Amino acid sequence: MLALGRAGAGEAVGDFDAAMQWIEGQEARMQRRIRRWATINSGSSHRAGIEAMACQAVAALQELGAEVTRMPLPAFASVDDRGEPSSFETADAIVARVRPGAPRRVVLAIHLDTVFAADDPFQDLSELDENTLRGPGVADAKGGLAVMLAALAALERMPQKDQLGWTVVLNPDEEIGSPCSAPLLAETANEGDFGLVFEPCLPDGTLICKRKGSGNFTVVVRGRAAHVGREFDRGRSAIHALGRVIDQFAQLNDTIPGLIANTGFVSGGGAVNVVPAFALARLNLRVADRVQQEEAMERLEACLEAVRRSCEVEIALQGGFQSPPKEMDAAMERLMGEVEHAGREVGVAVGWQESGGVSDGNKLAAAGLANVDTMGPRGGEIHSDREYLRLDSLVPRAQLCAAILARAALGASPAIREASAPLAAGGDQP
Ligand SMILES: [Zn+2]
Repeated sequence: MLALGRAGAGEAVGDFDAAMQWIEGQEARMQRRIRRWATINSGSSHRAGIEAMACQAVAALQELGAEVTRMPLPAFASVDDRGEPSSFETADAIVARVRPGAPRRVVLAIHLDTVFAADDPFQDLSELDENTLRGPGVADAKGGLAVMLAALAALERMPQKDQLGWTVVLNPDEEIGSPCSAPLLAETANEGDFGLVFEPCLPDGTLICKRKGSGNFTVVVRGRAAHVGREFDRGRSAIHALGRVIDQFAQLNDTIPGLIANTGFVSGGGAVNVVPAFALARLNLRVADRVQQEEAMERLEACLEAVRRSCEVEIALQGGFQSPPKEMDAAMERLMGEVEHAGREVGVAVGWQESGGVSDGNKLAAAGLANVDTMGPRGGEIHSDREYLRLDSLVPRAQLCAAILARAALGASPAIREASAPLAAGGDQP
């Protein structure tokens, strides 16, 4: 807190303390919100539920004085399990802005959807003990939404708020990889000097710094059907060809250290007396960095070309690295330093860990926005029917976020985004 006092006017210490105390008074409200929101099913494919959640979020953002826009998202084109074109449509995303002309800007993001479908048996809340709430999305990410809103409300009570504008993006499709909202995330990344994403932190409070990149691919093989007994040689088996692809793909695990290559789904063929003309596989690749991403893609393309020739089949590859690797760079290191500093001001220990999982933080980073993407509360067993939230983490996480925002507003920090002229100029610093 002292650092902020020094950075701002003498009064700022009092203002900051008052804002932090005000957050303590918001604990019951955060809990009420999470309990209400967790009982609104917003599984990624449940549009009506996501829209109901969006209404709740819009009301809360309007209460903060934000200009709120509903953004229809483009459909995501893919192929179905028979290799035919298919498209996925989702609910609107929500974008909210306050002070878009402010000298410093932050982008805050979190998703409205959960992994729990409308017919999933896990729909209800239960209390495991007085500090532990179990329920769908309590940590991932309705708890994060509540923390974000409390921190923004605290910022709006600070006199230095005028120096910091904010953009909130709430998307409806994160749990399926944000296929429809990816372009919107990339676009809004330009509106900030840094970003905060409200995925839950790890159960012990550790934050994620670096993430692997993740790509989803569909391989569609088309061969030539033939009678197995009469004309086997005239057939071109799509399944045998796909088998070779899968085998070579799996070998990437042994030859590129740190890479993960997984074949998650296969389909194809039919009667056993027919040489199959169709086969399909869905692949997931996870890579440590851009160099590895390029190497993996080259190897995959080369493997497909070799199988095309040797098996005389057509092979189409669809998909890509929807979530590029989230790597460390100078901007990210500066932001991490800011988060650590803010943590010391509010008494929250900040530790870091790498993850093989991806988040929308990958996409924002790929668009040039340094971001910390685990600003939500402590919780665990997410994506399972044992998902829980530690209630006593709500206030400290909201205070941590508010402290980061306060530091950014005061210009106490050096430029997080290197190219950001207003921050770099430091004209508002005392
Ligand atoms: Zn999440």
